[in-house]
Amino acid sequence: MGKSSLDVRGLYKNELIDYLAQLGEKSFRGKQIFCWVQARVVQDWSEMTNLSNTLQDKLSQNLRFSPLKLILERVSCDGTRKYLLELEDGKRIESVLLFHGGAISKKRTTLCISTQVGCPMGCEFCATGKMGFVRNLTAGEIVGQVLDLTYLRKKEDQQFKINNLVYMGMGEPLLNLPEVLKSIRILNHEEGQKIGIRRITVSTCGLVPQIESLAEENIDIVLAVSLHAPNDKLRNEIMPVNKQYPLGKLINSCRRYIEKTGRRVTFEYALVKGFNDNMEQVVELSTLLRGIKANINVIPINTVSDGAFNKPSSEKIKKFVVALREKGLDVVIREEKGSDIEAACGQLAGSIM
Ligand code: SAH
Ligand code: SF4
Repeated sequence: MGKSSLDVRGLYKNELIDYLAQLGEKSFRGKQIFCWVQARVVQDWSEMTNLSNTLQDKLSQNLRFSPLKLILERVSCDGTRKYLLELEDGKRIESVLLFHGGAISKKRTTLCISTQVGCPMGCEFCATGKMGFVRNLTAGEIVGQVLDLTYLRKKEDQQFKINNLVYMGMGEPLLNLPEVLKSIRILNHEEGQKIGIRRITVSTCGLVPQIESLAEENIDIVLAVSLHAPNDKLRNEIMPVNKQYPLGKLINSCRRYIEKTGRRVTFEYALVKGFNDNMEQVVELSTLLRGIKANINVIPINTVSDGAFNKPSSEKIKKFVVALREKGLDVVIREEKGSDIEAACGQLAGSIM
């Protein structure tokens, strides 16, 4: 196993233990290293003070340990922080840190992380979609976003911790399912970041076979499905994935997911002025989701540079939400955060790369 193949931040505790045994070291070293990397978020072997210098050297020759490079940080007036990060091969991704509720010291945090460089799904309204697909992230690179941004924030706030994790940054998580699942299991591990499994959301544009696979995983995360339109005609116009997996198939797979896991599904609906924000769509949406255990997140669309998609007025948004609630649906409006710093998916990398 060469140095280039194994990234210490993408290994399960048991994999580290086995690897240390292969190197002829005591297995408890594997547990210690997992704790240094995943819980104490050190950034270098030399910080692992209960390991001898000789062992530190040996590990540095056999395992990769490469924190992501911070290229840019933007801070919004609402506190949202957006990070542009560089991977080992020079490719760039984004992560967004959001704060909510409470006094500053009691605020809860949500980190939005990327799973791919770019995305092949080509949704019309999405800045990442416009970039096309470059490559999948490894589990270590997904986990790394949490570790490195935690490390960064801890310099200012010793108590800092990520409470919620959303796989809603760049890329389609279900096209990178094995690495995404591994990252979730590492980040949920009780000797690591210990992020509550029910506080982890994975968002998909609606890949039916992968939703079926996820249902088999027996993992208690929240599944979010980007719906954005209540009928095939409208959805085809903005989401090419709908031609392959139209709404009938998608909603059926969501029903099976709910049946199998016992969990609700969250449907995301980005409101676009004059496109999907009328009473006609309220009626269609409530018919489509009738009898499904679902939460609906209404998101005012964030206009990307070409300006083809604009958000409705706040009155129109409220009217839409109230009408959905009157139909008996559970709806929340996703707070708009960081719009002054291009915090929507793919916007920053798109404008800087
Ligand atoms: N690929 C996955 C997850 C990443 S995108 C998915 O599509 O679900 C995360 C969410 O941001 C999705 O709901 C996506 O539709 C939404 N999104 C993308 N561009 C947006 C924009 N310009 N305004 C509002 N939401 C956007
Ligand atoms: Fe990809 Fe999601 Fe953007 Fe669609 S919305 S292009 S699936 S990242």
